[in-house]
Amino acid sequence: MRVYNFSAGPAMLPEEVLKKAAAELVEYGETGQSVMEMSHRSKEYDAIIKATEKTLRDVMSIPDNYKVLFLQGGASLQFAMVPLNLMKTGKADFVVTGQWAKKALEQAQKYCECNVVATSKDKTFSYIPELDKSKFNPNADYFHICENNTIYGTKWSELPDTGNVPLVSDMSSCILSEPVDVSKYGIIFAGAQKNMGPAGLTVVIIREDLVGNAQEKTPIMLDYKTQVDNESLYNTPPTYGIYILKLVLEWIQSKGGLTAMKEINTKKAGLLYDFLDNSKMFSATVFGKDRSLMNIPFVTGNDELDSKFVAEAKKAGFINLKGHRSVGGMRASIYNAMPVEGVEKLVEFMGKFESENA
Ligand SMILES: *Cc1c(COP(=O)(O)O)cnc(C)c1O
Repeated sequence: MRVYNFSAGPAMLPEEVLKKAAAELVEYGETGQSVMEMSHRSKEYDAIIKATEKTLRDVMSIPDNYKVLFLQGGASLQFAMVPLNLMKTGKADFVVTGQWAKKALEQAQKYCECNVVATSKDKTFSYIPELDKSKFNPNADYFHICENNTIYGTKWSELPDTGNVPLVSDMSSCILSEPVDVSKYGIIFAGAQKNMGPAGLTVVIIREDLVGNAQEKTPIMLDYKTQVDNESLYNTPPTYGIYILKLVLEWIQSKGGLTAMKEINTKKAGLLYDFLDNSKMFSATVFGKDRSLMNIPFVTGNDELDSKFVAEAKKAGFINLKGHRSVGGMRASIYNAMPVEGVEKLVEFMGKFESENA
């Protein structure tokens, strides 16, 4: 029996996608082979990677002056790849809203001078800080944000206005969860394993004019221009992951696209936040407009009770609810693939746990 998996990543994939992949696993269409066995330079695979890009462009309404890249190395490699490619003045602005933003900052500090515009470290990153525009460097090479903070459950509700400075967004845990205006960004990047497909694939969406400025010593694999010029086929890309992304994108289209995703995600998150806001035992750790639709941390305020809850939930088929060690308590990650009834049943289980342990 499939469980409800609340993992922050790798996370659930839509069951329909897994079933389709299973049906095509051994023989893909009329090709007599698995996608995993195909040459990445074959015409069969070319059709898959092109269709994946086209579908992503359709689903996210990506403007023509943006390139789509299918890379490896995770979101974490982008923390270094971005400064290596974007440095001109050698300065970048950062907002530190959690561990992933901090890791990006630490990588960039190896290559350029970094200015921390704001941080929410004082309250365990439980909010998105207000920004003082006078602290922005108008000549920075880029301005980095982590748009959805997977560990802490916060999400930017309004993007910083960075003027001509390219906004770089780590969207690993919120990409495809709602419509976004791609034209507001210089670079969007995301590891696939939260909301797009299996681990091993990283998607980068980059404005054309930001390609071709890499530092001289940048390894060829880490130069966006190499990847753009070769349409992500300079070397062997994560072929199977790209194919699964195609299925996930088709699944999103079949549900009504990102507008429908946002509606469903708002409903799911609303169910859990409403329960938490009315519970006497459980409470959310993030409030107001900064609340994430994807990752919802919560606590009882009692470590023993937290552990008991996580253990009993697991037995009941709700797995990976333990919170990140830096926050404690619990966290429910409810990406696109988590069905509404998964959240409904979790809330029902929490209510029962609360009455039995009051
Ligand atoms: C998971 C995650 C990462 C790390 O992704 P990798 O693909 O493992 O490098 C970075 N940023 C955010 C926001 C994440 O959720």
